[in-house]
Amino acid sequence: MSAVPVSELDELRAYAEEIAGCTRCRLAQGRTQVVFGSGNPHADLLFVGEAPGFHEDKQGVPFVGQAGKLLDKLLGGIGMSRADVFVANVLKCRPPGNRDPQPDEIEACEGHLFRQISLIEPVVVATLGNFATKLLSGRPLGITRVHGQEQRTTIGGRDVLLYPLYHPAAALYTPAMLKVLESDFARLPALLGRALEPPAPPEPELALVRSSPPSEQLGLF
Ligand code: URA
Repeated sequence: MSAVPVSELDELRAYAEEIAGCTRCRLAQGRTQVVFGSGNPHADLLFVGEAPGFHEDKQGVPFVGQAGKLLDKLLGGIGMSRADVFVANVLKCRPPGNRDPQPDEIEACEGHLFRQISLIEPVVVATLGNFATKLLSGRPLGITRVHGQEQRTTIGGRDVLLYPLYHPAAALYTPAMLKVLESDFARLPALLGRALEPPAPPEPELALVRSSPPSEQLGLF
């Protein structure tokens, strides 16, 4: 047995190696490689996109195409870079022709994302587009309805602030959507600050109520 404790960084790396040969679904047949995710393994902020596209499949890194360039620009706008955050996808392998993820592929792959979340321990999980938002909110509401509305939830056994955003690929060609994405993005630093704050101490009156001895339970008969 090793005397050095295995850090979460090592565990995340080991997990990436473990799933590099994943055959949980049909996408294993057409992919060049599993695109695990990249960035800071201790990031407070995790982005979850949909699935690797052509360039991601070739390079093994998420969001390296045009949508990735926009993501970099949006991050720059809030004083952050890819090195500060972790970026992953709902699916780790490219669907043929960039078609939508199928329900059985999402089901096969979701365990990988939940494990990533439990190892990275983010405080804010920003979902990019419909697929990530529906999966992680557990609700069928589309991104147009819920973008910019943070909600507390538990994912991979961890309490996080879920923050749905438009997918950068959709915003690339729709200026109105880009404006909304930019303004939703601008709230991220405040959300991170809020999520990282220690819990407020109880109100004095509540503390009094809590510290008084429990009233005696009256007998029913
Ligand atoms: N779109 C995604 O959702 N993920 C990527 O990695 C690239 C484009």
